[in-house]
Amino acid sequence: MTDRIAIIGAGLSGLILARSLSHHADVTVFEKARGVGGRMSTRYADPFYFDHGTDKFTARTPAFQNFIKPYLDAGIIQAWQGKVVSFHADGQISKRQWFEPHYVACPRMNSFCHALAEGIDVKTQIEIAPLSGRSSQGWHLQDKDGQDLGVFNWVISTAPPAQTHRLFQGVSTGSFTFQDVRMEGCYSLMIGFQKPWDKTWIAAKVHEGLIDWISVNSSKPGRDDRVTSIVAYSTHDWAEKYMDADMGWAQKELIASFEQVTDISCEMADHVTTHRWKYAIAQKSEDQKEHISTPFLDTDLRIAAVSDWASASRIENVWESAMSFVDVYRRAVFK
Ligand SMILES: Cc1cc2nc3c(=O)[nH]c(=O)nc-3n(C[C@H](O)[C@H](O)[C@H](O)COP(=O)(O)OP(=O)(O)OC[C@H]3O[C@@H](n4cnc5c(N)ncnc54)[C@H](O)[C@@H]3O)c2cc1C
Repeated sequence: MTDRIAIIGAGLSGLILARSLSHHADVTVFEKARGVGGRMSTRYADPFYFDHGTDKFTARTPAFQNFIKPYLDAGIIQAWQGKVVSFHADGQISKRQWFEPHYVACPRMNSFCHALAEGIDVKTQIEIAPLSGRSSQGWHLQDKDGQDLGVFNWVISTAPPAQTHRLFQGVSTGSFTFQDVRMEGCYSLMIGFQKPWDKTWIAAKVHEGLIDWISVNSSKPGRDDRVTSIVAYSTHDWAEKYMDADMGWAQKELIASFEQVTDISCEMADHVTTHRWKYAIAQKSEDQKEHISTPFLDTDLRIAAVSDWASASRIENVWESAMSFVDVYRRAVFK
């Protein structure tokens, strides 16, 4: 009989797993958000699009280059080129070299996830409740309102570790404790101007204040460059320190730092909002890098978990981790 697999989360991990596992099983992806993408998603505020999660990604291994090739050929992934600068604490601005191609999905970062989701059964706006009922047929999944979602032989979570911990809280995961993996937060300040970008740089590393990276989204390929869309990412340290701060206050602090560094006033901006990512990137200690470097899989309980905590918070590593999970799953299930 064909396995029925429930995958929790329609970010990159969930969609890669769904594509690969659907050759062997009947797969359904459940996503609590309105659309696919997870931390690779895009915020729309007419007429602006902001890639407020993943900004860009690299492809260092031949395996990942092979994987993205069809998407490059189709124009869904394109190289992002232009002048990148560094803003220094002493006010100096220097040119920053990009020594390898940096890719973006087009026309928006979440377009890649939309392409991956084609032909996959993705059910959005469904938040899965912590697992409880398991019978001889499998896991009886419910959403957070207690709605029955059916029975699945396998449940795979791609949610960040703290959320996976909650999902599996009623189930023994042996010595594996998801809570041990620390995720650091990030604030994304989104600024829109109803005019074209008039500077020569497309992105900037900031070595001062509470902003870490600035990305001129409207300079990415396939975007509308008649307007300017900018995302300024906070440092993880600052985000962690002020994770529970008032959003209005946090936005004001971010704007002040952005204006000071770039000399661009936000007073005339046509759009300004801020998104707070509680779980942005995985931060592992040296010891954890050794011990928590593989996805979690329990073949007796038929539960599993994989996301960037099992590798590193880079798109290429997330893909590798999902693919390695598929290998482990195949070996475990078809032995
Ligand atoms: C601000 C920011 C900037 C980044 N910049 C870069 C970058 O420049 N380059 C790079 O390579 N990487 C970057 N990353 C990291 C990269 O985005 C992540 O490593 C990657 O997207 C993780 O994908 P994932 O599918 O494993 O997890 P996610 O994208 O987090 O997907 C998990 C999904 O599970 C869903 N979910 C959780 N709980 C439930 C539930 N109970 N029921 C249903 N659904 C649920 C969530 O809504 C989410 O969609 C960045 C991340 C952030 C936040």
